[in-house]
Amino acid sequence: MNAPTSTLNWTPAEENATDAAAKAVKIERETHKLEKRLCRQVGQAIVDYNMIEEGDRVMVCLSGGKDSYGMLDILLKMQQRAPVKFELIGVNLDQKQPGFPDHILPEYLRQLGIAFHIETQDTYSIVKKVVPEGKTMCSLCSRLRRGILYRVADELKITKIALGHHRDDMLQTFFLNMFFGGKLKGMPPKLVSDDGGHIVIRPLAYVAEKDLSRWAAHRAFPIIPCSLCGSQENLQRQQIGNMLRDWEKKYPGRIESMFTALQNVVPSHLMDHSRYDFKNIRTTGVPDADGDKAFDSEEFTVPTLPGLQLLPLP
Ligand code: SF4
Repeated sequence: MNAPTSTLNWTPAEENATDAAAKAVKIERETHKLEKRLCRQVGQAIVDYNMIEEGDRVMVCLSGGKDSYGMLDILLKMQQRAPVKFELIGVNLDQKQPGFPDHILPEYLRQLGIAFHIETQDTYSIVKKVVPEGKTMCSLCSRLRRGILYRVADELKITKIALGHHRDDMLQTFFLNMFFGGKLKGMPPKLVSDDGGHIVIRPLAYVAEKDLSRWAAHRAFPIIPCSLCGSQENLQRQQIGNMLRDWEKKYPGRIESMFTALQNVVPSHLMDHSRYDFKNIRTTGVPDADGDKAFDSEEFTVPTLPGLQLLPLP
């Protein structure tokens, strides 16, 4: 080793160079870990929900936001190493929002050398014409978008439609439904579309938004701003997002715990009698070590999640 054993003999320039080199090594290591984690989580979600099968033609819906860029990027990596062969087709719907830079996505996708399709439909004008000033445009806008994307999926002979929603979107949706919709209902990682004709998948289901932000910064994706339509982000979703971030700050690990809970549903311990036949419960006469101890207060064990700590009681 030629490195000096003491920094006392170093010039300030040498010290700066060493600091910068150490920082660069650390960033490279962290980025490598992030890439591995993203690939592992996307791969796990694909396997757990059988999202992609041999011969699939996957339509990767691209909005120009960090999430959909990240989804395409990771799916391209998965495609190289997956045991099954599948195709990826990038699709963007240009809704003719004012100022939409329509050259960015085609240039990016051409550079990648992947198959893509840009569908241009001026839904913006329709929405503006139909929805009274000051009213939210999102519901009509997304209904129109959905119909167009289903049609495009048919035309391109698509077998799976991939959307870039991530873990935090799913949790927010769960709380939105609970707080404002009176339902225990989230955002599924795989579903049949409302027209019954398409399978929709969410390969980023296990991925945290902050990881996607870091990945987008590292890969310098050419992000297209999402506020071009002039519509305000859903206020309730914003509030839920803030609440979750706040909880996570105060009680680290809570997001992971809640997300795990979405995968561990116990219908016999909820109250939906259409999901569990409470009316016909009968004694079994057989002791069950895992059975319910109705008279004891609930004990909580820490789920085996990396980095998850026992939460202090509020
Ligand atoms: S935010 Fe804009 S583009 Fe998105 S759904 Fe609402 S109106 Fe449509």
